[in-house]
Amino acid sequence: MISISDILFQYSEHQDAGSELQFSLQLKDFAVQKGAKAVLVGPSGCGKSTLLNIIAGELVVQSGSVEVLGQDLTSMSYDQRQNFRIQNIGFIFQDFPLVPYLNSLENVLLPYRINPFLSLSKEAEARGMSLLDDVGLGAKHSRLPRQLSQGERQRVAIARALVTEPSLILADEPTAGLDRERSVSVMSLIDAMVDEKDLSLVVVTHDSLVEERYGNVLDFGSLR
Ligand code: ADP
Ligand code: MG
Repeated sequence: MISISDILFQYSEHQDAGSELQFSLQLKDFAVQKGAKAVLVGPSGCGKSTLLNIIAGELVVQSGSVEVLGQDLTSMSYDQRQNFRIQNIGFIFQDFPLVPYLNSLENVLLPYRINPFLSLSKEAEARGMSLLDDVGLGAKHSRLPRQLSQGERQRVAIARALVTEPSLILADEPTAGLDRERSVSVMSLIDAMVDEKDLSLVVVTHDSLVEERYGNVLDFGSLR
């Protein structure tokens, strides 16, 4: 599913900042099997989000090999990577951002508005509605984010990550800033969706609660 070896990545901005200030990510080996759930832990600033963005094809390594779903991301053009990401990857962001003036269903269907490779179809709309049902918000599909509780907004964002039918879910600190009860319910929902649709999952976290859920915990520090 994911196979990364001997990568070197540096941000191209701030070239003038001096090499000692330049963040550099080196990783020997990182692999996730199909259908697996992997948890990636490590201190703040060690490059966890950077790695997720490399897996998503958002960032490109300077050297090494990055294979996701059998495809070599390093040999793809920008457009090919964007297309790959839209076809295959669902991203759950730390703060579950929603567009404030769009209702729940429109927020779930947001990928179809912002990606030139996608066009909204009746099937996509039906899928959006059915995902809102799955997360318990079918009856609130026309509410704006401010008319929802924080937990409901998170569920909308989780439904949005699934609407394009990805086979790999990348979740970047999905429980950061949540209390214990809310963390459990967010992770249970992500888990349930991943199990039901037979997806693979990579969760970045420094929440011990999330670590405890999974056997497969990779300490980022020890991978480098
Ligand atoms: P983590 O998610 O583990 O907290 P990140 O991957 O977000 O860490 O960041 C790793 C390092 O890369 C940090 O030192 C951060 O300042 C730096 N960094 C993140 N984004 C950029 C960027 N766009 N340009 C330059 N440096 C960045
Ligand atoms: Mg991060």
